[in-house]
Amino acid sequence: MAHKTEALFRDDAYQKTAEAEVVAINDRGGILLDRTIFYATSGGQPGDTGMLERTDGGRVAIAATITGETKDEIIHVPAPEQALPVVGEKLKLLIDWERRHLLMRMHSACHLLTVVCPFPITGAAVAEDDSRVDFDIPDAGFTKEDVTARLMELVRADHPIFTRLITDEALAANPGLVKSKNVRPPVGTGKIRLVCIGDNGSIDSQPCGGTHVKSTGEVGEIHIGKIEKKGRENRRFRIRFGPMPAN
Ligand SMILES: [Zn+2]
Repeated sequence: MAHKTEALFRDDAYQKTAEAEVVAINDRGGILLDRTIFYATSGGQPGDTGMLERTDGGRVAIAATITGETKDEIIHVPAPEQALPVVGEKLKLLIDWERRHLLMRMHSACHLLTVVCPFPITGAAVAEDDSRVDFDIPDAGFTKEDVTARLMELVRADHPIFTRLITDEALAANPGLVKSKNVRPPVGTGKIRLVCIGDNGSIDSQPCGGTHVKSTGEVGEIHIGKIEKKGRENRRFRIRFGPMPAN
């Protein structure tokens, strides 16, 4: 039976600690809690790492967070050779916040890239130091310098980033919100979560379950490290932190 974990990170991406109760340990030693601040790998964003602290002070290191039978079932995967908690035990949750904040900045940067390059997305992967978005375009016609300059304009303008829920029907009425070519947002639950940038989402709105920073300014300085050709009609843009290195 799949559990439904309350995903606290959806309402507050900045929550660094929380209390939760163990509801199950699966046959692979994965820990299921009633609620969690640990983001589970999906939508190109890797899951969180961190610690679960027991009341006796013992700590269980979490090496990965993934979804189980359903997207609502979140499994905390312990590092090897950890003493496992028991069902019913209360734990204090601590995510590796430095890593998560880098992932939030990068994920938001990927959304900014889809504003600068408004083409169908064929793939994306967020990572702490180098993220990529693949677009279905035959010839980019962009230089990494131009794209970097336009990204940094959006960063410097410090636009708000927020989430909003819409109905399946509202999404169906606005197919342009979906920028992924192959991945459709999950419909049927009645509500779709949009990540919006700018006042009233004037810069961008797209379905996304990931964690994001509160404003584009918080993304900080980024640049396009590379634009690669991936097949005849695919271009891969790599985003990195910091200023563009001088050649
Ligand atoms: Zn996203």
